[in-house]
Amino acid sequence: MRITRGCNKFCTYCVVPFTRGAEIHRPPDHIVDECRRLADAGRIEVTLLGQTVNHYRFEHGAAVTVNGLTQPQKGRSYKGGHRRDPFGTNGTNGAGERVTTFADLLHRIHEEVPTIRRLRFVTSYPRDFGDDVLEVMQCSERICRYLHAPGQSGSDAVLGRMNRGYRAGEYMEFLDRARGYLDEPEKGRPLMLSGDVIVGFPGETDADFDQTIEMVRRARYKNCFIFKYSPRPGTTAYDKIPDDVPEMVKRKRNNDLLAVQAVISDGISREQIGRTFEVYVEGLSKKSLKAGGMSKSQIRKAGQVALTVGGRDVGPAETAGLAGTAGLAETDGLAGTHAGATVQLSGRTEGDLIVFMDTPSASATDLIGSIVSVRITSADRLSLQGKLE
Ligand code: SF4
Repeated sequence: MRITRGCNKFCTYCVVPFTRGAEIHRPPDHIVDECRRLADAGRIEVTLLGQTVNHYRFEHGAAVTVNGLTQPQKGRSYKGGHRRDPFGTNGTNGAGERVTTFADLLHRIHEEVPTIRRLRFVTSYPRDFGDDVLEVMQCSERICRYLHAPGQSGSDAVLGRMNRGYRAGEYMEFLDRARGYLDEPEKGRPLMLSGDVIVGFPGETDADFDQTIEMVRRARYKNCFIFKYSPRPGTTAYDKIPDDVPEMVKRKRNNDLLAVQAVISDGISREQIGRTFEVYVEGLSKKSLKAGGMSKSQIRKAGQVALTVGGRDVGPAETAGLAGTAGLAETDGLAGTHAGATVQLSGRTEGDLIVFMDTPSASATDLIGSIVSVRITSADRLSLQGKLE
């Protein structure tokens, strides 16, 4: 469910602020109402979406109403960050008028729609993360312990040229703070982080890249999206910063960082063996769909219907208007399975770890779309395997 559109940040490599325009925030009542409608329709997982979702803020005093309906509101820029309340106005707009911050919004959804059993959000902008959001997450059992917070580089010089608005040390301090609040493996709730990194940004030296490797090692992302820089028309970098890192160097750095991340992901997966997680069952695994006679394109279609909305992986909970479609698509692969046969289900932990579990085909359809308890028995870099408890 999209709660904000556009972006006010102007990272020099990114075209979003020019193509999608300034940040626009939906009124909080509309968002809570939509969550309620989804919950009433049987959805139990919702993902809040925005380019910089944690920059959400709605100023009630400035709200515009048309035909009795509160309109979405343009977000303002600010130069704060890494503070308790990133806006520094303690829930007001500075003039004492009430605002709904991102922390307030999370709290409202959690309290007012308790039948949403999993609440997620992506993508977070590191600089905008105040402790207020972390505190709400810590106290709210249905908000997932998962943060996608792109660091992009471990070098202050590169971050400066990217116009990211933070230093590597501040980013690492934020991750440490988030772990302090939210990492509770002993309660079955380890905090899982994922990130984005660009390698070969203009001017990136070997020393800069070494700092990025160091950042990735310290961040311990469960997974990291690693991109080789290439200039995009319409961006500031395209016009003003020469693309001076040779392609061969970019490729090598990309491969080196992938190798570092692979070791980290593998280690994190193996740490989960023996733990028990609540797993949201998304559907049949690709393996089972294939065994059930579905073609590659049918499998791809089933996965797209069930798992992506707005171009990003989400749970079937978000497929409002597709009610029933995801389930049907996902269970097509059951056709032809005989009584007593076993199929493989695929699901996710609250930390966005993929889990596969074998189950009798007779009970598979009942489990899809529900949350089940799974004990992890084995793991590889990309996924966990477990047994239903
Ligand atoms: S990279 Fe993200 S934060 Fe930066 S301008 Fe693009 S959308 Fe905004």
